[in-house]
Amino acid sequence: MANGQLIADLRALVGEQGLVTGEQLLARTYDRAAGEVHARVLIRPRDTAQVAAVLRLCHSRGQTVVTHGGLTGLVYGAAASTDDVIVSLEALNRIESVDVPGRTMRVEAGVTLQRVQEEAERHDLMFPLDLGGRGSATIGGNISTNAGGMRVVRYGMMRSLVLGVEAVLADGTVLGSLNRMLKNNAGYDLKQLFIGTEGTLGIVTRADLRLMPRPRSHGTAFVACPDFASVARLLTVMDGQLGGQLSAFEVMWPEFYEVTTTSPASNAAVLPYGHSMYVLIEALGADPQSDAERLEQALAEAMELGLIADAVIAKSDLERRAMWAPREDVFQTRRFGPTHNFDVSLSIADMPAYLETLRRGLKECAPAARMYVFGHVADGNLHVVVSAGEAHEATFHAVERCVYEPLRSISGSISAEHGIGLERKAYLSISRTPAEIATMRALKAALDPRGILNPGKVFDVQAS
Ligand SMILES: Cc1cc2nc3c(=O)[nH]c(=O)nc-3n(C[C@H](O)[C@H](O)[C@H](O)COP(=O)(O)OP(=O)(O)OC[C@H]3O[C@@H](n4cnc5c(N)ncnc54)[C@H](O)[C@@H]3O)c2cc1C
Repeated sequence: MANGQLIADLRALVGEQGLVTGEQLLARTYDRAAGEVHARVLIRPRDTAQVAAVLRLCHSRGQTVVTHGGLTGLVYGAAASTDDVIVSLEALNRIESVDVPGRTMRVEAGVTLQRVQEEAERHDLMFPLDLGGRGSATIGGNISTNAGGMRVVRYGMMRSLVLGVEAVLADGTVLGSLNRMLKNNAGYDLKQLFIGTEGTLGIVTRADLRLMPRPRSHGTAFVACPDFASVARLLTVMDGQLGGQLSAFEVMWPEFYEVTTTSPASNAAVLPYGHSMYVLIEALGADPQSDAERLEQALAEAMELGLIADAVIAKSDLERRAMWAPREDVFQTRRFGPTHNFDVSLSIADMPAYLETLRRGLKECAPAARMYVFGHVADGNLHVVVSAGEAHEATFHAVERCVYEPLRSISGSISAEHGIGLERKAYLSISRTPAEIATMRALKAALDPRGILNPGKVFDVQAS
């Protein structure tokens, strides 16, 4: 269909303000790799009715649609081509209501994660999902990627924090599954169709989020450990001693810690270099004095057991931020050129052997490569960044195979939290059985029979 006609028909639905084309469209970039955004047109609907009208029109014409949230996704899940219409949720950015006794918040999908966190705090509550892209990432994107982040060990991933969802199906049907109740077993839980499905089954327009009590105490410690076995035992000790307060257990291997604390990075080293492992520990509780003592005691016990070589506890917000800064400054790993970024899941017990296999593999396929490892070890989630310098393009697939193939025999996952998007779909069969992938295809065929939503993402619609 001619672009002019399509744009005229879409303009009739959303008005001039709701369309972005030409130079304005080219001025947009994806966060990842800073690529330009291309599309037939970008639509900015103002409400659910407009999203529904746009999808009805696109469905009737077999027009493909890619949904955009804050574009912080890391697997090209929001990548669009000049054949696609982009629907951006940026104008659906209202926080509709907060139910304080019920501890819920109803929002439109384009609201950023940070605004939700701040609004919850204003009501003396907390929305515990937290990740580095919080200022731009949207609730719709967090739902569609089932985002994880820093506090999964305590509060779970986005799936645990979403009570209800309103979504628009490919044919324009509005599926109102908003729900503020913690318990609702009346038939199928349809919101799950849109959590972690990366915009392939519908466009999320509104959501009911679960809030938590705002912590009154905030303990943060930065420790160095002699080896990985100590890190694993330290996790058990902290988990047990902190009585359910452990909210983050972020581990950094030395190469990562060093690259994020040396110039041009502006973060200071929290502890001296030379240790085998560094761990950032966070505990959220209700009583500042007794919780601080509990954290100190837990660390003292770990020290007596020889699990900790050195430790420092934050005494102020400033010190806490200084401890988090190296962990969050992940783009320092791009210092030596483009990077391959992975986020794998595996059992903690398998981590040392897996990393050893990976190091050996990389030595063969990309001898000059630098590898940085860090991650949410308590969740079994490692982030692996490989910087292969000038060999980046040439080694791309070989590096991918080095990272993914060893996961097959240990039942690991090729994606712990970032999703599959375009980048990882060739490897989906490492982590999902043929029957699982066939069921995904059946769901896609049932809900989006013309295959217009986020085409080519997660898996190819036709079995290959
Ligand atoms: C510095 C940094 C740190 C990060 N840390 C983490 C981390 O710790 N844990 C983690 O899980 N992720 C992390 N991420 C990745 C990213 O922030 C998350 O994947 C986030 O949930 C994406 O939200 P978004 O609004 O930017 O979505 P986008 O990037 O815009 O889109 C992501 C996917 O969701 C789809 N989508 C977006 N909105 C909707 C909607 N309303 N309805 C249907 N589909 C939609 C898109 O089509 C695409 O497939 C990080 C990213 C950055 C840049």
